[in-house]
Amino acid sequence: MTDPREQLRRYLEQRRELGEREFVLDQLSVEEALRIVGGARPGARGEHAPETPLAAASPREEAAPEEAAPNDWRETLRAAGAAPQQSVAKPARASEGIPASTPEVGGQLAPTGIVVGATSRELFGAGGPSLESLESVAKAIATCTRCPLYATAKNPVPGEGNPNADFMLVGEAPGATEDETGRPFVGQAGQLLEKILAAIKFSREDVFIVNVLKHRPPGNRNPRPEEVSACSPYLVRQIELIRPKVLVALGTFAAQTLLETKLSIGKLRGQIHRYYGVPLIVTYHPAALLRNPSWKRPTWEDVQLARRILDRAVSGA
Ligand code: URA
Repeated sequence: MTDPREQLRRYLEQRRELGEREFVLDQLSVEEALRIVGGARPGARGEHAPETPLAAASPREEAAPEEAAPNDWRETLRAAGAAPQQSVAKPARASEGIPASTPEVGGQLAPTGIVVGATSRELFGAGGPSLESLESVAKAIATCTRCPLYATAKNPVPGEGNPNADFMLVGEAPGATEDETGRPFVGQAGQLLEKILAAIKFSREDVFIVNVLKHRPPGNRNPRPEEVSACSPYLVRQIELIRPKVLVALGTFAAQTLLETKLSIGKLRGQIHRYYGVPLIVTYHPAALLRNPSWKRPTWEDVQLARRILDRAVSGA
């Protein structure tokens, strides 16, 4: 039988991968519980996190209440002084509180999710920064000192792709390979992203790929709120200039940043959110799929949904 500490560590890693920070076990947070079982490590961003053979359960299955089996990790946790909840509360729907007047996007393809920005006008055409082209955004990023990351990064990674793309993907921040090359998603996670795109009949030249942060955080640590605030105007301007018909947020960080929420990725998937009028689909980060191959199927479903929304938008249906 698997060591219960190891079982617990895997379970907690999964919760964290799903973006849960508030999985409180009595007084314990995910990070604290991980420290008890010796699994503490920096945030789970990118492909540089340790390879963890996580349990093969879909995120939705994972959220279901589970019965405690004898000799399982719950006992270990209790022994460490914290009793996990016996059942997981039903998550609040991300769409709660959205005005009924919100027009539907994508027909009946999926429920409406979070709406950020009531109309496209708030973002597009507002008196934003005077960066008139994607090239001028890239130049501004190259000389940016708005946060300290420029000092430790080797290269800026502004993003790349088809400037007229209908389909735009937003990741978290450059990793080591991206920092070396100045290009987004060119490491292992990038190769997987290309396969994901191919599954919906796109090459990376068809789409536009960016990150929330344009410089690599040292050691791939999690982006800090002040870095996100400093860098966000570039992302907003890129979206303004590209005017995609569909946005895809890759992973918890991009999703939570764009949607201004703390909801976990498990709760944000499967809905059509809107970012200043642009339909936004949330899916797993490709680096997370490298560690959790069982998340490939839900990711496939997410990108199929995004593709169908785009096809409908293009055909005017
Ligand atoms: N992870 C990201 O979020 N972005 C990249 O460009 C590469 C890895």
